[in-house]
Amino acid sequence: MADSAETDWVSRFADEVISEAERRAPGKPIVCASGLSPSGPIHLGNLREVMTPHLVADEIRRRGLECRHLLSWDDYDRFRRVPAGIDPSWAEHIGKPLTSVPAPPGSTFANWAEHFKAPLVTALAELGVEYDPISQTEQYTSGVYREQILTAVRERAGIDAVLSRYRLKQAAESEQAADDYFPYKPYCDLCERDLTTVTAYDDETTELAYTCECGFGETVRLAEHDRGKLVWKVDWPMRWAYEGVIFEPSGVDHHSPGSAWIVGGQLVGEVFGGQQPIGPMYAFVGITGMAKMSSSKGGVPIPADALEIMEAPLLRWLYARRKPAQSFKIAFDQEIQRLYDEWDSLGRKVAAGQAQPAELAAYNRAVSTAAGPLPATPHPVAYRTLASVVDITTGHAEQTLRILRDLDGVEALDEVAPRLGRAQRWVELHLPADQRTRVRESPDQELLDSLGQDEHKALRLLADGLDDWTLEGLTALVYGVPKLQAGLPVDAKPTPEMKTAQRAFFTLLYRLLVGSDTGPRLPTLLMAVGAERVRKLVGA
Ligand SMILES: [Zn+2]
Repeated sequence: MADSAETDWVSRFADEVISEAERRAPGKPIVCASGLSPSGPIHLGNLREVMTPHLVADEIRRRGLECRHLLSWDDYDRFRRVPAGIDPSWAEHIGKPLTSVPAPPGSTFANWAEHFKAPLVTALAELGVEYDPISQTEQYTSGVYREQILTAVRERAGIDAVLSRYRLKQAAESEQAADDYFPYKPYCDLCERDLTTVTAYDDETTELAYTCECGFGETVRLAEHDRGKLVWKVDWPMRWAYEGVIFEPSGVDHHSPGSAWIVGGQLVGEVFGGQQPIGPMYAFVGITGMAKMSSSKGGVPIPADALEIMEAPLLRWLYARRKPAQSFKIAFDQEIQRLYDEWDSLGRKVAAGQAQPAELAAYNRAVSTAAGPLPATPHPVAYRTLASVVDITTGHAEQTLRILRDLDGVEALDEVAPRLGRAQRWVELHLPADQRTRVRESPDQELLDSLGQDEHKALRLLADGLDDWTLEGLTALVYGVPKLQAGLPVDAKPTPEMKTAQRAFFTLLYRLLVGSDTGPRLPTLLMAVGAERVRKLVGA
């Protein structure tokens, strides 16, 4: 990959991160970081939080340097609200750490956080993302951040002063006196919720008194207390300093004035003696074609939903080819077919040695990591073709193989795996019922009887030409029949009149074969239907 240096955004960030790491922490592993809150389904859009540092960390590893990609699970965050579709009785857990909330009904996982982490962990493994998971519950409850917490509390007036620089412009009415500000929130020892108020703190003894809305109250020594956490705007910069993070991107929402990124950038140095990471802002990732998805999932796809219908390299490519500041969409609708065409065409360009350096870099990041290549489909038949074949055969394996053998010389279905399975899931999950292809069982006699002599002649020409049973042969045939009928050679240049005649002929064939005015590409459809059945359905 060395020759791809400076050819794409990933390389440029890797250069910057490496030189910054040499300056800040020479000789130590380079640290990139992501953070995710398992407060509910982890949206496919949030995958950018992991993929951006992953690609940079992977490039650093490809260059032979040691790099840790920390994935911080914010599982010690409070449970804020009960998502739609969950038993409303879960409201009693609002305010508890996510790891103290029971998993949703029917789940086999130990708690709420584990339940929502699990599908992402599986997806990241499939995507070839190598990372070090960090549970913030484990960190906080084991006292790992003890010194940092005591520092933050000692420096609370200074932290409050930084926060108030941004607070001034906002609601003056909600202004808090500096001595009220406390950057550490205890979880109640009785009810486990964070509905607590710190009522007294002694800097000498670290004795902290709190009361809870449940009525409980106690005095603890903060120097020994492991059931509470720093508030988010203090917690994040504390971790940058604690972990020595050099690269951590974040979403647009973190970058407004007074937001965690901006405030954190000041606190990390002033309070914790660290430095803010290099942190590009990444743009929103949208989804198309989700309207058809089951509403039981709230219409919010997770990475596993994308990997059900597309191979891991394609999903990696979507992230690798766009700079973090560029937004893009992940397609669950017909657009996925065009996306796959583009991907295959890039693959051919790469194989022919004709890809531009940035295209080649994105391709290589998609198909492999520093650890090696990701699983690939050995015989990558076009996704749209596979989708059509599966649609027509309703997934029947023997018929599928017969068609793919005729179409493209496929000898065994293993050759087209895993892509075939993904296309099959796409047809099952995302192809609307009214767009599914139903090949007619018997001829449409009424329609056949209504046809004129010319149309019957065209259908006979078609039936007689079915001997060249290849995709090329059938393509030439369907375009050629209207020409032959007009007394022209099959290789005659199409005139506007001829194009109109061809469209009329195609519509007739669709109506006779699948009872609709449109359908999958005709040569593919003919091949899928089979010569004998085509002859029967066109009455020739
Ligand atoms: Zn309580």
